[in-house]
Amino acid sequence: MIAPGPGEPTVVAAPRAAPPREPAAMGYRRTAVLMDTLVTIEVVDGAAPDAAAAVERAFGWFCEVEARCNRFDPLSELTQLSARIDVPTPVSPLLYAVLDFALGVARASDGAFDPTLGYDLARRGFDRDYRTGRRGTAAGAPVGRADYRDVRLDPARQAVTLRRPLLLDLGAVAKGLAIDLAARELLPCRDFAIDAGGDLYLGGRNAAGEPWRVGVRHPRRADAALAVLRVGDLAVCTSGDYERRSPGPGGGHHLLDPRTGRPAAGAASVTVVAPTAMLADALATAAFVLGPERGLRLLERQGVAGLIVTPELDYLATPGFAEYQQWPS
Ligand code: AMP
Ligand code: MG
Repeated sequence: MIAPGPGEPTVVAAPRAAPPREPAAMGYRRTAVLMDTLVTIEVVDGAAPDAAAAVERAFGWFCEVEARCNRFDPLSELTQLSARIDVPTPVSPLLYAVLDFALGVARASDGAFDPTLGYDLARRGFDRDYRTGRRGTAAGAPVGRADYRDVRLDPARQAVTLRRPLLLDLGAVAKGLAIDLAARELLPCRDFAIDAGGDLYLGGRNAAGEPWRVGVRHPRRADAALAVLRVGDLAVCTSGDYERRSPGPGGGHHLLDPRTGRPAAGAASVTVVAPTAMLADALATAAFVLGPERGLRLLERQGVAGLIVTPELDYLATPGFAEYQQWPS
């Protein structure tokens, strides 16, 4: 969540829990429910030419990414693609790019990140479209048979081939992509903030002319910050075991270990600071599943800063993380 200027309390990144702030003086701010979360966009200088139109276009990207990448919608490009096994299927540049990126993260994390977990997620109760309450594609494939290596990309034809029955799920990257596309629209406004359920991109500076202040949520206390960051022109994304709980049998959170199909147990939360939200979003999920030691190594190898909180509430940070930290916990 985005914090206001000096003197005001820091707002903790609490996905879906925090109500939107009152509009900043002279600022322009809009909130909408998209991608199963509250998305708030704020432009510091609301009087900037075309600020309202830029925000409108920025929200348009959330709609576009959701329409293409929503596995709960039987008509989305992603769901339609998942229905075609062993057939090279040309896809849109947007879907191709996000799949290409997701497969790269899968390789870099040795499969801890895997965009083919749709059936496992559905089986654990993550199977309803938040907009309609309707059940999505049934949990139909054999457990653990397919993985990211069964998705083949053909760059020349911009085509995708699924070599086994699987259900693609881009829940760990799509929001980051939407944030980045939205941020691109807002660049002419210079100083802006995008908050999509606690995943953030902060452009330029806040209303006080200082770097944006971001509270990292304590994974066990929704109203407490365990770190406060100062950032500008950067994304900050968090994956936490408190974010979504399965309504299905067995409960559990939404970050699955692909080796078991069950919730990963090595971390309570991971926060990543990176130049793009897609990178921060995906690496936070990947590091969460890998757990503290391997997760930290992945973040360092990828050249991003991050903080991993273990289930015992120990903190591990990359060396670069301190650069953004306003005060230690
Ligand atoms: P995030 O909150 O960004 O960490 O993303 C969580 C979402 O990522 C879940 O709701 C799933 O859609 C998806 N997901 C869960 N486990 C994994 C995994 N191991 N690899 C890739 N995506 C995953
Ligand atoms: Mg993520």
